[in-house]
Amino acid sequence: MEDIREFSLSELEERIKELSEPSYRAGQIYGWLHKKHVGSFSDMSNISKVLREKLSDRYFITRLRKLEVLVSRIDGTRKYLFSLGDGNVIEAVLMRYHYGNSVCISSQVGCRMGCRFCASTLDGLVRNLTAAEMLSEVYAIEDDTGERVSNIVIMGSGEPLDNYDEVVRFLRMISDKDGLNISQRNITLSTCGIVPRIYELAKLRLQITLALSLHAPTQEKRLITMPIAKAYELSEVLEACRAYSEETGRRVTFEYAVVKDVNDSLEDAVRLSAMAAKLHAHINLIPVNPVRECGFSEPDQKKLMEFRDELLKHGSNVTIRREMGRDIDSACGQLRRRYIADAGLRAD
Ligand code: SAH
Repeated sequence: MEDIREFSLSELEERIKELSEPSYRAGQIYGWLHKKHVGSFSDMSNISKVLREKLSDRYFITRLRKLEVLVSRIDGTRKYLFSLGDGNVIEAVLMRYHYGNSVCISSQVGCRMGCRFCASTLDGLVRNLTAAEMLSEVYAIEDDTGERVSNIVIMGSGEPLDNYDEVVRFLRMISDKDGLNISQRNITLSTCGIVPRIYELAKLRLQITLALSLHAPTQEKRLITMPIAKAYELSEVLEACRAYSEETGRRVTFEYAVVKDVNDSLEDAVRLSAMAAKLHAHINLIPVNPVRECGFSEPDQKKLMEFRDELLKHGSNVTIRREMGRDIDSACGQLRRRYIADAGLRAD
């Protein structure tokens, strides 16, 4: 059986035609799925019973089950743990900003990129998420809060460009006027730097922001924390980012997790600043969120400010990412790992 939430409106129209139904029905069904977020054909009250039965014989509708919601007492950040149809669990986070609600979604169950500071990758990749599952992360959070989501960041567990086709389908559908209609300019895709996929994405000329997880100012340093650097040299990744920026007219963001004694020297800042200048990139500094298994720690506040000031001195465009939900295990993959570990204990 196929997941009906996976189809674009035109794909759904074709399938409705095959059932000898008028094509406007597809629009109605699409609205139920992507505007009203129903989880069952029986909720589609303006669709005839006969058609609903035909649909449920052929298709199912993805549903995420909410297992846990952790609410930060500091800033109201809500971290969700959802289970998928096959029992796998994923995380998504709602962050409330002055400009609106931003949802951070996962693109895979686990991850195979192996970045040394990241909890999502510790147990490897389980599987890709479908576009319908990614859409459902956003829908479930809107339904839970009753509030509209205005921004999306693909920065949860997983490497989006390692799940390219489904992520592109997701991007098109979430920004589709017949669905949630979220402006592409309000969507950020974060990647560790899979070069050929960055070129492919550039060719689509979507208006999304590309964020590169840079995390090091030289190839040598990048190799310490990011195995992907073995496959793609830093210079190649930067070239791909330039192509993205030229093709789409969008400014790229460099994400830089500042790790104590690894990449936080003033010399690192000078190099980083030169790299950003070449691409007119925006730099987002994130004090590394310590993950027990990884053994990295964050610099103290004074050191972080000195690092930022050095960037500013060299003319960089830089922000320090406000840490959201530090009290609720908000670093990628931490909640899922805790849940799985607890489930293991319960099973024993
Ligand atoms: N795979 C994608 C997106 C998911 S990770 C990527 O690599 O960009 C989202 C961001 O969080 C990435 O920049 C990632 O490097 C960063 N990140 C992961 N673990 C972190 C930690 N413990 N502290 C700070 N940032 C972290």
